[in-house]
Amino acid sequence: MEYEAVIGLEIHVQLNSAAKMFCDCPNRPGDEPNKNTCPICLWLPGYIPKFSQEALEKAALVCLVLNCHLERQSAFDQKVYYYPDLPKGYQLSQAHQPLAKSGWLDIAGEDGRPKRLRIRKIHMEEDVARLVHETEGRTPISLVDFNRAGTPLVEIVTEPDMRGPQEAMEFVRTLRTQIRYVGSSECSLEQGSMRVDANVSLRPRGSNQLNTKVEIKNMNSIRNLGEAIAYETSRQMGSLQSGEAITLHTRLWDAEKRLTVPMRGKFEGPCVPDPSVAQILISDELLNDLRSRLPEMPQPKTERFIKQYGLAEEEAMLMSSERDVSEYFEAVVKRNISPRTATHWLAAQMLPALKERNESLRDTPVSPERLASLLAMLEKDEVNANSAKEVLTRLFDSDQTPEAIVEQYGFKQVSGASELEELVDQVLAANPSAVNNFRSGQAKALSFLIGQAMQASQGKANPKRIREILMARLI
Ligand code: ADP
Ligand code: ZN
Ligand code: MG
Repeated sequence: MEYEAVIGLEIHVQLNSAAKMFCDCPNRPGDEPNKNTCPICLWLPGYIPKFSQEALEKAALVCLVLNCHLERQSAFDQKVYYYPDLPKGYQLSQAHQPLAKSGWLDIAGEDGRPKRLRIRKIHMEEDVARLVHETEGRTPISLVDFNRAGTPLVEIVTEPDMRGPQEAMEFVRTLRTQIRYVGSSECSLEQGSMRVDANVSLRPRGSNQLNTKVEIKNMNSIRNLGEAIAYETSRQMGSLQSGEAITLHTRLWDAEKRLTVPMRGKFEGPCVPDPSVAQILISDELLNDLRSRLPEMPQPKTERFIKQYGLAEEEAMLMSSERDVSEYFEAVVKRNISPRTATHWLAAQMLPALKERNESLRDTPVSPERLASLLAMLEKDEVNANSAKEVLTRLFDSDQTPEAIVEQYGFKQVSGASELEELVDQVLAANPSAVNNFRSGQAKALSFLIGQAMQASQGKANPKRIREILMARLI
């Protein structure tokens, strides 16, 4: 019998609102433990939560970019369970009336054609506290950090529409791009601002039944998500082939051993309507306002970049996949830099340099204005590419203009005919054997001679002119 995998995802996304979901404490879980707390988010008895409009708007934007139908009316429930990370005994979540339903995302399918994957619902919930287990001392202890308690999450639940690890990975990548574009979250699996649980079951290919599933947790990268699903699929296949039944349970991905291990049976506590938070109502006015705040999204932007700037598809995708990159790119192009030059310098120089320096396009001192001034000099042949790279490095560390740096360090390109001719003649005189080699048909002797001339100019000669003069002399 041939089987196929059936996969549905449950994705928690931490919203990046300034404050927590039901109080004014800063939404900064990584601060010094228990610094961002108050009676509401310590969940002390008698304190009434006050629902944050900012969290609602960030959540609603997520729903809209995932093509969901925003419910005009939704409400919070109390999801009851008892654990040290939730001392009040229940989590505020939307079990019965979620914020949004029936969305979808188109991903690039494995056969190259787009595939539409459905989203069942999106609901809001508060995060729980973080437990820190210390096993070093004689008596192991567990500590509770309430900085994360009450911070805003959305949970995105898909339909079981994915059929393999590649589709699940591509879905998460596409979803991350969309959510980052509207600015509701960084969606980092590595840093925990996105957590993906995968539900996996098998069925005979061609059937449409839904068999007993297994839930996998604890994947902290997209690659691990793919590997965990692949592992779990073959594990279940093995069980079926040896006649064992699949039981409903939760497993953990062990990133070191690269396999899933059983964690617990699936537990769902009771869920009751919460009386302390008012119904969430979305007015026409708010809906229109939210819609007007949706930016141009990556797909249409890619198409526009191809048409408007003549970029190749791959370049256009690269320039539009992150909102910051696309805005920076257009700010450079607007200053009369050719789109190709801007793309090339952003992709090959700026982005790697930022990564190395742990800076982002938002906070780097190399503003689009400054990069554009440098690229303008490059395009006017006032500096060559090598010197431009040197200037770029210095732009990161000083607030001088590129022009001033070129002046100060003598990066100006040498393009004057007589200077260059003199240089070439010196190089020819000093390298008679390379000249002979070239004349007897060894083309690479030319690159050697160009290299010598560039070196003699301390990298400042115009390589195109050097080549022309050399050719004229040699042939
Ligand atoms: P539960 O009640 O166990 O939480 P749900 O029906 O709420 O199950 O679905 C949770 C997630 O599991 C959804 O993403 C859904 O697409 C997925 N899912 C449901 N049934 C299956 C199945 N048989 N195989 C794989 N995934 C499934
Ligand atoms: Zn608080
Ligand atoms: Mg469920």
